[in-house]
Amino acid sequence: MTVETRSDASRVGGGLLLTADPQPHALQGMFALLIAIGITMRTVAGETFTTESAAGLAVVVTLLASGMAALLPWERLPVWSGGLLPLLDIAAVGLLTMDDPTSSGAVFIVLPAFWLGRLLGRLGALVTLVAGLVLVGIPSLSEVGLTSSNLAGATLVPLVAGWASLAIASNFEQVQAQQQETERHSTELSSAMEVIEHQRRVSDAILDSVDVGLVLLDREGRYQAVNRRHRDFMRLAYPEGHDGRAGQGGKVFGPDGVTLLPREQMPTHLAMQGEEFDDRRIWVGDDPLTWRALSVSARTVRDDEGSFAGAALAYNDVTDFMRALKVKDDFIASVSHELRTPLTSIRGYADLLMDRDDLPADAVRQLSVVIRNAERLGRLVADLLHSAQIEMGPVQVDRTRADLAMIVGDAIAALAPAATASEIDLVYSGPERLVVMVDQDRMRQVVDNLVSNAIKYTPPNGRVEIRLQVDGNRVELVVADTGIGIEAADRDRLFTRFWRSRHAEEQSIQGVGLGLSITKSIVESHGGRIEVDSEVGRGSTFRVRVPVDGR
Ligand code: ADP
Repeated sequence: MTVETRSDASRVGGGLLLTADPQPHALQGMFALLIAIGITMRTVAGETFTTESAAGLAVVVTLLASGMAALLPWERLPVWSGGLLPLLDIAAVGLLTMDDPTSSGAVFIVLPAFWLGRLLGRLGALVTLVAGLVLVGIPSLSEVGLTSSNLAGATLVPLVAGWASLAIASNFEQVQAQQQETERHSTELSSAMEVIEHQRRVSDAILDSVDVGLVLLDREGRYQAVNRRHRDFMRLAYPEGHDGRAGQGGKVFGPDGVTLLPREQMPTHLAMQGEEFDDRRIWVGDDPLTWRALSVSARTVRDDEGSFAGAALAYNDVTDFMRALKVKDDFIASVSHELRTPLTSIRGYADLLMDRDDLPADAVRQLSVVIRNAERLGRLVADLLHSAQIEMGPVQVDRTRADLAMIVGDAIAALAPAATASEIDLVYSGPERLVVMVDQDRMRQVVDNLVSNAIKYTPPNGRVEIRLQVDGNRVELVVADTGIGIEAADRDRLFTRFWRSRHAEEQSIQGVGLGLSITKSIVESHGGRIEVDSEVGRGSTFRVRVPVDGR
């Protein structure tokens, strides 16, 4: 067995023999020390030694071996060559115990026996046994004679030495097997670490290469990971630095680009409350040259037990889109504004003409078409203006005491002819008077939009029911129809500007898709909510709830 592992350890003893390479000078030094002690004891006991005596020769052999141990360049010689020294040591023991193989000097054979076992493994044990017989047993038998006690001593000493050598060889095998196992584990561990490290670098590279800002928050709201794109956004939002915690205020504005976002509305704060959302728009930075509009999405991260473990947020740069939207809204606003003046004049002169008594009957009919279309155009222009305003910020509401029952009554009266023309029953149930704090004109728009939609999207012989009731400090307006209904997949887009259902388009039902987005923004500006419940082919129910007292 070759010993592969080398070590700088120079400890002497079992540790040295089992865990480190045999160090010839250290082991030989130790053997020489044992021999010196043995000789000294025997001298003290009155024995005398000459260089010709066997014990004297033993000392010479030991010195020779020690000299070789000290002088030969063992590091450059093959490991097994170190076996020469324990063989010389066994020869020294043989000389020392030649006259009495059972004497105490025989004990010294244990050290070279260990040494050979450690150096050559099980072969070392065999070498020890043979060397013991040849160098210790046979010389003593030939010196002292073949008596039974001599025979026992001469064979026992090599046998014990061989056994000791075998024991250390197998111990060392075990130690080596354990060492190899440990090395295998540590190799596996380090290659697993390498794989993890590689994957980390790959995912870092991917995260850094995407054009979306990404943030990972831990369960305490600390920023756990931020990609390169988001660091750019953070430099705009927090020129003074960021403390790495969710909800920190900075140069972060709402969708209008002017209102500073309070902590409670910061996307990271909302995400830490467990909210999940998409397309929440914010602006970061306060310099018009560099600021960016971001559309933020958030998702909750959960652990194995399903408990909240943090949140992941994605920030999409939508500056160009927002700028284009603003250009479009500015355009719509200015065109609508420009259209209003000539329209007012058309309406005014058409009304004046209509007041005349000398108009022939067909002129009155034609004029009423002009007036009806001018009114329609007027409503469209108002809706366009309104929707452009919504994009620029929340609608301003001017609350006064208003009778909502009367507003509903007016709407029903105005829309009754259209309902009758479509053979639709228009039914109201609710109080005769219901005074609440609302913006009268805006609420009129809400009622008109919902009721006119209900009539528009209900086929003949249908029914439209308008209910008004107070529920706690909320007033509830319900407009239910038996019309075409709205597909579940379309309900999210229902309140988006310019969105119309396929059905509405196919059936050429008049409209531009602004009414519901305006309605929603008016309701929300009143601190209320609008909900829809619908079944295709059976009808829709729109439910509006707003606070009675405006609070
Ligand atoms: P418009 O009616 O001018 O198209 P709205 O914003 O009022 O615009 O409505 C948007 C779309 O929602 C409509 O085009 C229609 O497809 C659908 N919708 C609105 N109200 C109803 C309703 N009561 N029943 C069925 N569909 C409706």
